[in-house]
Amino acid sequence: MRREGEREMAMSQEELLRSPAVWQPRSPEEAASMKTAFGPDAVYAAGSTLLRTQWEAGTATMPRHLIDLGRVAGLKGITEDGAETVIGPMTTLTECRTSERLAESAPILVEAVKAIAGWSVRNLATLGGNVVFRVGDSVPALIALNASLEWLEGSRRVRTSAEEWAAAPSSASRLLTSIRIPGGEAGARANAKRFCAYHKVGRREAFTPSLVTIAIQGTREEDGISSIRIAAGGGQTTPVRMTRAEELLLGGRPDANLLQAVYEAVLEQYEPKTDPFAADLYRKQTAANLVAAALWTQFRDSASKG
Ligand SMILES: Cc1cc2nc3c(=O)[nH]c(=O)nc-3n(C[C@H](O)[C@H](O)[C@H](O)COP(=O)(O)OP(=O)(O)OC[C@H]3O[C@@H](n4cnc5c(N)ncnc54)[C@H](O)[C@@H]3O)c2cc1C
Repeated sequence: MRREGEREMAMSQEELLRSPAVWQPRSPEEAASMKTAFGPDAVYAAGSTLLRTQWEAGTATMPRHLIDLGRVAGLKGITEDGAETVIGPMTTLTECRTSERLAESAPILVEAVKAIAGWSVRNLATLGGNVVFRVGDSVPALIALNASLEWLEGSRRVRTSAEEWAAAPSSASRLLTSIRIPGGEAGARANAKRFCAYHKVGRREAFTPSLVTIAIQGTREEDGISSIRIAAGGGQTTPVRMTRAEELLLGGRPDANLLQAVYEAVLEQYEPKTDPFAADLYRKQTAANLVAAALWTQFRDSASKG
């Protein structure tokens, strides 16, 4: 007769090994209604690169139902809608990386995607899967870009900002249907005053999980910075905006004194999660250094004075 502990272990192995039923809806509405019907027993699957690592590591059990998004119409591709660049969540990271439209309208997103995993993973992995991961390396870039996310929950359409999504994860039953970046290609061409930066620091140079990621996008006028958004994330830290540094920079011309104040503001506001690979103080200093150095690079003429 099996003892209690043995029975639990056998059950969890059965859970892990059980093959799910795979569903292939053709429309977002059909996918969302399947999720509503199956509830927590169903999981949306995009490239499945993250899901596989979770199943293999035992951090998630194999669901009873997999809702494969691969055949859902209208979830793939990069287009323009008025002033917005619209990215379908099933667009692969490789497609984002090589998109001329994104290189023009959202260069920090392209930089972010380049730094995720390696070629083989990026060919399968989708931007939507990275966003829903919440700590994916694209999320700081999307926050700095002031991106919006469109979702389908049952039959209800919901729009949130990337910043809101990262701060308060919504119900897992939502289907991400588009990622929208303001400005668009035409706007970006007209906007010669834009400056931006994206940096990821990992445990090694490439093909590495992040320790710290920062993303910056702003505009400058003759009399100083007219808009700026800074986001910091990395590791298991949910990306957040560095609003105190933004407030200091708005209307200013970064000189050595201002950059010192920005460094201290990031050090104070960025609250990373610690793990066995890096202490939180190291992550804080790295984030503060990355932000100050990126701004120094953009404004080195004024920054070197004072
Ligand atoms: C070797 C390796 C290295 C990696 N390196 C990195 C890295 O450096 N940086 C990084 O950020 N990530 C990394 N990842 C994690 C992962 O590959 C990426 O985050 C990838 O973008 C996830 O996309 P996917 O399409 O494979 O998502 P999936 O695995 O299919 O799904 C991920 C999650 O998103 C949900 N989901 C997917 N699409 C939707 C949708 N449209 N609506 C609602 N929910 C949805 C799924 O249910 C699941 O919960 C790595 C993975 C591997 C295997």
